[in-house]
Amino acid sequence: MRGVRYKKCNECFENKKEEIDFYKSGRGYEFICKSCRISAAINNKKNNKERYARYSANRNALIKALPRYDHRKATFDSYRYFNYKCALTNTRGDLVDDHFIAIATGHGGTIRGNIIPLLSAINFSKNDADPFTWFETNRQRFELDDSRWNALISYLADQNGLTLDEYRQFVDWCYANQRSIDDIRADNERYGYVVSSLELWREATGMSFPLRIDFRQKRRNARDRRNHFVGIHEMV
Ligand SMILES: [Zn+2]
Repeated sequence: MRGVRYKKCNECFENKKEEIDFYKSGRGYEFICKSCRISAAINNKKNNKERYARYSANRNALIKALPRYDHRKATFDSYRYFNYKCALTNTRGDLVDDHFIAIATGHGGTIRGNIIPLLSAINFSKNDADPFTWFETNRQRFELDDSRWNALISYLADQNGLTLDEYRQFVDWCYANQRSIDDIRADNERYGYVVSSLELWREATGMSFPLRIDFRQKRRNARDRRNHFVGIHEMV
């Protein structure tokens, strides 16, 4: 007759009956008992929920503090440009608005040249990662091809008025100089409007190439109409 096997749970350190008090795992049993397993799962769920709530509150605050002028049209135009298909797989499906430079960096924003349609699975994988690093790591997994990636980078560089090299440098700079919500608000305060990351990058690096896209256009027009001055804030 087989005796009852006891083993010590790695969590509560109580000796419990292996066959009854532990879940099966592979050919044997888990190292922590059923009741510890269940309370761990509950805690995990609770922690995840709290973490997610914190994450999305912070993310929404970032989205609102970052540039987002004309974000509906910018998003619409981007979807139309990519024929309502994923910018990386060229397939239809569950598309989401991807911020190429992730919102979590405190850069970019919901603007032309940063919003692209991606399959939700790809967007989920890309998450807050540096897109160039992410692509190198995940291109095989998602069977992404170079030409589509290069076309996407060309599109984004062009939309930002930059060459390919400049755009890569700009993205790298954004990931190396991430901003908190307070940093963003301080920058916006300092400039007197919602300042673009392109302008900050140019300021920080002392680059003097012409900024071909005037991000202040809308704001400037509004101010000019108020002041009845036209053209005094020319910047390009
Ligand atoms: Zn236990």
